[in-house]
Amino acid sequence: MRILLLEDEPEMASVLLTALHRRGILVDHAATLADGARHVEATPYDALVLDRRLPDGDGLALVARLRAAGDPVPVLMLTARDALDERVRGLDAGADDYLGKPFAVEELLARLRALLRRPAETRQELLQVARLCFDLAHREASVAGHRMELPRRELLALELLMRRSGRTVLREALERAVFGFDVEIQSNALDTHVSRLRRKLADTGAGVEICGIRGVGYLLRAAP
Ligand code: CA
Repeated sequence: MRILLLEDEPEMASVLLTALHRRGILVDHAATLADGARHVEATPYDALVLDRRLPDGDGLALVARLRAAGDPVPVLMLTARDALDERVRGLDAGADDYLGKPFAVEELLARLRALLRRPAETRQELLQVARLCFDLAHREASVAGHRMELPRRELLALELLMRRSGRTVLREALERAVFGFDVEIQSNALDTHVSRLRRKLADTGAGVEICGIRGVGYLLRAAP
């Protein structure tokens, strides 16, 4: 399980990071809305835990953007205690649950577990474009029911392109999804992986195309 914690208060963030790590949950941390958006763009998370009052804006802006893009990732928002209006607006904007500060870490964990237990039909697990299916739960791609054997980096690129199908995915986001944050990436490394992926999709008759937008990114869609 991998979650994103979007929280600008260092002490709160550090307590939560420690508690979550101790339970074997992989957590990325961002302290600003902009940084959070970059993480979400690059990494498919199982859940987001986010503070509303961030130095560069309201955490809700990110939730609204995700929902508008059809992203069903569960969101637990952290609000000031007794801020009824904050909670109502948060839920209206697409957050799944909220927790008033201060709270016990155990309660946060329980809420997270509940969110992640939601039945599969309320969370989108299977993405499909033309004959190509991507199973998010098992990270598997298949064409007309036949599993595609893909190397990890191609699979990661395909997952992000499928999640955003029909929309342009920025190079930077793809590079981060495929190579991670801390590596030096050769300028054409991403293109090499995408070309291989493209060829395999064509060979298997997936019925999709990956269009390159020079200098900007890539877009996956059903082939015309
Ligand atoms: Ca805050």
